Amino acid sequence: MNIPDFNITENSDLAEPYKAFVKQMADWYNGGELPELAGQDLRFTLEMQRQKMQSLGLDMQCNLQNEKSNQINVGGVSFSDRIFTNSIIGGNMNLTRSIGSNQNSIYKNTTDISLSTVIQSLKTDTRPSSSMALCCPHCGAPSTLGELESGCKYCDSHFLMSELYPKVMNFFVTENEDKAKRDEKNKRELKTFIIASSILMIILGMIFDLFSGQSQSTSMNIFSEIFGGLLCGGMIGGMLFVLKKLFEVFALMGKDLRGGGKTASTLFYANKIKKNDPEFSSEYFRDKIMSLFRMAVYSKDATELACCKCKCPEKAKDIIEAQLYNFNINSCEIIDNICDVEVTLYLDCLHYMDGKIKSKSDKFRMRMRKSIKNRTELGFSFAAVSCPSCGASFDARNVKACPYCNNVYIHEEHDWVITDIR
Ligand SMILES: [Zn+2]
Ligand SMILES: [Zn+2]
Repeated sequence: MNIPDFNITENSDLAEPYKAFVKQMADWYNGGELPELAGQDLRFTLEMQRQKMQSLGLDMQCNLQNEKSNQINVGGVSFSDRIFTNSIIGGNMNLTRSIGSNQNSIYKNTTDISLSTVIQSLKTDTRPSSSMALCCPHCGAPSTLGELESGCKYCDSHFLMSELYPKVMNFFVTENEDKAKRDEKNKRELKTFIIASSILMIILGMIFDLFSGQSQSTSMNIFSEIFGGLLCGGMIGGMLFVLKKLFEVFALMGKDLRGGGKTASTLFYANKIKKNDPEFSSEYFRDKIMSLFRMAVYSKDATELACCKCKCPEKAKDIIEAQLYNFNINSCEIIDNICDVEVTLYLDCLHYMDGKIKSKSDKFRMRMRKSIKNRTELGFSFAAVSCPSCGASFDARNVKACPYCNNVYIHEEHDWVITDIR
């Protein structure tokens, strides 16, 4: 499942929230407030990422510019449950990431990217139940929709439905290849190769002449050395350039095809789950996988998170930024309504190691579990759940039982949890 390309359609009512979110994200990565439009889990992930950066003494700034094209691309990609529709909205822009450590810049990179977001909105003509658990967008306290409309218990903020939705659930960054930049680079490289080879050939020609006994260099000789050198050098340089490109193409192909070979098995297993849960989709799952992986990797201690039943692997500990490139479902077992899935994640990550930032293509295997007798709920977050036994709403991100009635809360009965990352 590559992050899809978007067809261009205009006049979407989600273009405005998208633009506003891009601005809020840029503010956030420049030290500002959490994006107001971000859903609860995304806020949580962003906060953990910032805390991780701060604990490492790093400061990341991102500049997003979309001067080149102001186009917002709204794809036909969307998925729904009974209440919500999640649509994927993307746009192209220019991203400059700079990371500093102790006032020194240790990383700076500018690329053309697609920034796609998963925007959740209410289906027309639906109204979620007023007992639906939801976090207060102002103070973050677990609450319910009804309480938020009549005033949050903790901060007394009142919300209209139009202020609660739409919300951005997740975002994905994919790098676009810049053709003009690549052509420029190719021209430069070809020139370097030809000049270097020609100089080498001229020198070799002179040395050869020197040793073959033609000690009396005539101007004719020098001319033929230079001319021969240029001709040979040009040819050899050109050939070397072509060879280098060939290797690059293979390397790039390997990078671009990551995970592409297993699309059939991914669709097969996604369908297997869908048979039990009609609202499951691979787009929804991609969103979930990325959200869970980011939480596990950015958190101080993954085992403290209710959504993670394992440690963060050693090789993922230095990840400070993770973007999903592709994923595969390798296996899926459903026994007594408990679904165990193994996925492979192909990621583009920034690692902080030995005081340096390294950009790497990573591959992780992750096992996840959920009881599929409960259908997918797109609006669900552990940040605000309602207790199945007493009905109270509470934050289940770091607790194992309801704080009001002490009934054990089994996380995998309500949403996907990670059982292993390798
Ligand atoms: Zn509040
Ligand atoms: Zn309870």
